[in-house]
Amino acid sequence: MAWDFSTEPEFEAKLDWIREFVRDEVEPLEVLFPGCEYLPLNDERRLIVDPLKDRVRAQGLWAPHLGPELGGQGFGAVKLTLINEILGRSSWAPIVFGTQAPDTGNAEILARFGTAEQKDEYLAGLLSGEIFSCFSMTEPQGGADPRVFTTKAVRDGDEWVITGRKYFSSNASVASFFIVVAITDPDVPVHRGASTFLIPAGTPGLVVEATHHLVGSYPHEAGHSLVRYDDVRVPAEAILGEPGQGFLILQNRLAGGRLHHAMRSIGVAQRAIDMMARRAKSRFTQGSSLADKQLVQEFIADSYAELVPFRLTVLHAAWLIDTAGEHAARAEIGVCKILASQVLKSIGLRAIQVHGAMGLTEQLPLVNVLLGGVALGLADGPTEAHKVNLARLLLKGYEAEDPEWPSEFLDNRIEAARAKYGDLVDRIPAVP
Ligand SMILES: Cc1cc2nc3c(=O)[nH]c(=O)nc-3n(C[C@H](O)[C@H](O)[C@H](O)COP(=O)(O)OP(=O)(O)OC[C@H]3O[C@@H](n4cnc5c(N)ncnc54)[C@H](O)[C@@H]3O)c2cc1C
Repeated sequence: MAWDFSTEPEFEAKLDWIREFVRDEVEPLEVLFPGCEYLPLNDERRLIVDPLKDRVRAQGLWAPHLGPELGGQGFGAVKLTLINEILGRSSWAPIVFGTQAPDTGNAEILARFGTAEQKDEYLAGLLSGEIFSCFSMTEPQGGADPRVFTTKAVRDGDEWVITGRKYFSSNASVASFFIVVAITDPDVPVHRGASTFLIPAGTPGLVVEATHHLVGSYPHEAGHSLVRYDDVRVPAEAILGEPGQGFLILQNRLAGGRLHHAMRSIGVAQRAIDMMARRAKSRFTQGSSLADKQLVQEFIADSYAELVPFRLTVLHAAWLIDTAGEHAARAEIGVCKILASQVLKSIGLRAIQVHGAMGLTEQLPLVNVLLGGVALGLADGPTEAHKVNLARLLLKGYEAEDPEWPSEFLDNRIEAARAKYGDLVDRIPAVP
C-alpha cells in the first residue's frame, strides 16, 4: 500500500498563503498583545484580530479541523497537519484560524455526542470563535490515573448535583462553559462509571478558587484553575452523551487533541531550528562563525534529524486516520504524543544554548519551546502513562512462546528450515 501525503497545487497555494499571512500578519500579535491569546477580545484587540479572522474565513480556512457540516472545510488529517505545522509557529495563529485547544477538542465531542439543543447552546458559540470553553477533568489528588477521581454527580429528580474539586482546568477563568468529568456510578470501574456534563459559567456553586500559571507566563493569562463544584445543580439534559459514557467521550476528545498538539509542535520546532541556524551563521567566536564549529553543526544536524522523522510520523498517523480511521491509528497517535514532548525539549534546549545567555531571557521565544515540551509531556496525560498504554497496545499483537527457547533460537530456526528444505539443512556451516 502506498503512503501518500501529496496534496494538489491549489492546496499548496493555500499553504503558501497561510505561511505568508502567519509571518506578516499574525506573528506581530505576539508582541502587540502578549499573553492575551485566551482572553475575550476587548475593543482594542477586536479591531485588529476580527479583520484577520475575516481574511482567514474569506480564504476558506476557518476551523480547518472541522467537517463542512460544522462550518469547517473537511480537509482531513493530512492537510490539517500541513496547516497546523505552520500555525504552530505563532501562539496567536490558532486563535486567528479558530483551531485553539482545548476548544477544538471540546467542539469535536459536542459535535459527536451533543444533542441538537446542546449544539445550539454551546457549539455554535465555539465555532464562531467568540467564546472559550474549559475541559475540567484532572483533580488535585491526581490526573494521570482516573481511578483516583472523586468528583461525583448524583441524580436528584430532574437534575444532576455535581460535587468535587478539579485542578489545572485550563481557561476556567475565561470560559463560557465547562465540560466536567464526574463519577455517576461508583460501583463499577471508572471507565464505565464516569459521565461528562455541560455547565454554563456562573452556575451557582461553580467557583474558580485559584488560578495558577506556568512559569514564564503573564499574570493576566487565563491560566489553569482549581475549580470547586459545590453541589452544582444542572438539568438532566446537561449530560453529554449517555451516563457512563464519560471515558468513551474522553478518549474521543483526547485522541484528536494529542495529534493537533503534535502537528503544531512541528512548526514550533522548525522555528527554533530556523533561529538556531540564523544565529549560528551570524555569531563569530574564536576566529570563525558558530556555524563553522563542528559541535554547533552537530546541534543543527541532530535537531533536523529529530524533526524530520517526527514530522513523518505525524503525517503517517494523519494519513492512517484519513484512510483507516482514528481507531486504526491509536498506536501512531500515541507515538506522536510521546515524540512531541521529546522533540521540543531537545531542540528547544539546543536553540537556547546556541543563543547563549540571551536564549534564556524573555527577549527570545526559546524558553517557551523548552517549557512547551515539558508541558506536552504532561498535558493530555503524562508521557509515562502513554508509553505504558502504547506498550500494552503493541503487546496485544504478540503471543507468549516457549519460556526456555524463543522461536528465533537457532535450533528452532534450523528445525523450521528442515521442515521446508529437508537434508539440505545438514550442509549449513557450523556457527563460528
Ligand atoms: C499545560 C497543561 C494544561 C493542562 N490542561 C488541563 C485541562 O484543561 N484540563 C484538565 O483536566 N487537565 C489539564 N492538565 C492536567 C494534565 O492532564 C495532568 O497534569 C496530567 O494528566 C498528569 O496529572 P498530574 O499532574 O496530577 O500528575 P500525576 O498524576 O500526579 O502524575 C505525576 C507523574 O507520575 C508519573 N506517572 C503517572 N502515571 C504513571 C504511569 N502509569 N507510569 C509511570 N509513571 C507515571 C509521571 O511522571 C507523571 O508526570 C493540563 C496540564 C498541563 C501541563
